[in-house]
Amino acid sequence: MKNKPRLCIVIPCYNEESVLPVTTPMFLEKLNELIEKQLISSNSKILFVNDGSKDKTWELIKDYQAESPYILGISQSRNRGHQNAVYAGLMEAKEYFDITISIDCDGQDDINAMDKMIEEYYSGAEIVYGVRDNRDTDTFFKRATAQGFYKFLNMMGVEVIYNHADYRLVSSKVLKEFANFKEVNLFLRGMFPLVGFKSTSVYYKRHERIAGESKYPLSKMLNLAIDGITSLSVKPIRLIASLGIIVAGFSFLAIIWILVLYFMKQTVSGWASNLALVMFVAGIQLISLGVIGEYIGKIYLEVKQRPRYIISEQAGTFEKDK
Ligand code: UDP
Ligand code: MG
Repeated sequence: MKNKPRLCIVIPCYNEESVLPVTTPMFLEKLNELIEKQLISSNSKILFVNDGSKDKTWELIKDYQAESPYILGISQSRNRGHQNAVYAGLMEAKEYFDITISIDCDGQDDINAMDKMIEEYYSGAEIVYGVRDNRDTDTFFKRATAQGFYKFLNMMGVEVIYNHADYRLVSSKVLKEFANFKEVNLFLRGMFPLVGFKSTSVYYKRHERIAGESKYPLSKMLNLAIDGITSLSVKPIRLIASLGIIVAGFSFLAIIWILVLYFMKQTVSGWASNLALVMFVAGIQLISLGVIGEYIGKIYLEVKQRPRYIISEQAGTFEKDK
């Protein structure tokens, strides 16, 4: 069994007391199946990351850990968001495991894609992206916004794998390099392609949430989109500069036109057109300032170098392989 890779399945959980009792047995069964198929070491684990839940999630995780030798848990000192929870789990696991697979706890991602992910690892891939090949189970709204999101990210110069969320196999080799990315604004799916290494994708069908509600309302999705773009691309600032040049060009032409009219003594100007123009330019200026402000905010957070996660409690102990 010595040469089989040690796997850690990293699962972020935020207020998931209604889901965990259903999905935990599924994850355990999958882990056992992978061990029996001799794909992974028998010393593999499931690591639950409690992201500052306000319900019984952490109590549940502690109970599961006490019942099963395959389960570990860490608890963040407060809610820091999905990306930081996944990051905390990956960073804690990287010293002890050969490979990690991050997956949501709600059963939406097909756990049976793990076999293929691990096989791809055997064929040399260090990162394997889980990509869903349909969105039938999503509402029309979620589908449209999510797809718009990926297109927009790509337009803005952020390299992301289309329809890949955070279901992904990453080897500890990659994670050790990844730890050198010091930013506090995390957008994992856009950052892993930057690390490089051999990567590939595995396709799966995404199911409906087994229980509970989505923890990603529109506001959180918008935040993720804005963070994703402003953390990984400066294209929006360049676009603003281009916009400035275009507006300035038009103004120059307008001034010539106004002078011509003036000398032709035809300056009975329209109030409406004037006002419209002023409002338009004011709008553009405000949007531009907002975008620039977003970047300054990012810089502000980065220079503080605050910790990206703080673990307040742990269930079970991490042990090196003997
Ligand atoms: N999650 C988290 N912290 C948060 C929000 C969500 O750890 O602040 C976890 C959540 O428990 C789940 C995963 O992130 O395991 C994805 O969340 P969700 O299923 O609500 O998002 P959706 O699938 O609707 O995009
Ligand atoms: Mg979900």
